[in-house]
Amino acid sequence: MGDEKVKEEALQIIGVFQVLPRLVVFDLDYTLWPFYCECRSKREMPSLYPHAKGIVHALKDKGIDMAIASRSPTADIAETFINKLSIKSMFVAQEIFSSRNDKTDHFQRIRSRTGVPFNSMLFFDDENRNIQAVSKMGVTSILVGNGVNLGALREGLTKFSENWNMVEKNKQKWKKFSQNPESSDKKE
Ligand SMILES: [Mg+2]
Repeated sequence: MGDEKVKEEALQIIGVFQVLPRLVVFDLDYTLWPFYCECRSKREMPSLYPHAKGIVHALKDKGIDMAIASRSPTADIAETFINKLSIKSMFVAQEIFSSRNDKTDHFQRIRSRTGVPFNSMLFFDDENRNIQAVSKMGVTSILVGNGVNLGALREGLTKFSENWNMVEKNKQKWKKFSQNPESSDKKE
C-alpha cells in the first residue's frame, strides 16, 4: 500500500472517532522505523515502517499535534534520520535522550513544552516497560509489535476514547456526589 492510500485509510479511521487525542507521541526505534539508530551510520538513508508516513500525514491533516519520545543514546543520528526522512516539521516536540528506566522524564518535558495534559495524549512504543510507566501517568499507551500501522492507530484511538469516557463518567459521578453527598450512594 502506498503512502497516499495509507493516509486515506488513516483519515477514515480517525473520522470515526468523536473524541480525539490532542497530541500523539511516537517512539522512534522499532515504532516509526525498523531498526536501532545507534547501530546505523548517519550517512545511510533510513526508511520508515510502511504505514508510518501515511499515518503521520493523516494526523497532521486532522490538526492533531505529534511529538517524539525516544531513549536513543544517539540523538544526533536520530535527528539526522528525522531530517533525511523530511518529517521534522511534523513534530511540535522532540525528546531524544537516554534514560535509565523508562520515559517518565520524556513525558514530563513534553507536557511542559506543549501544555497538553497527559490524559489528552496517545503514545505508541514497542517496549512494555515504557508503556507501563507512561500509562500510569494517565497517557493512553499502545504497545506495537511490528511498528506503528493502521491496526495500531485504530486500537490507540479506540482505547483513547474508552479512557476518556471513563474519566468523564467518573467526573459526572463525583459532581453528583459532591452536590448531594447524602443521597447519591443510597440504594433504597
Ligand atoms: Mg523503541
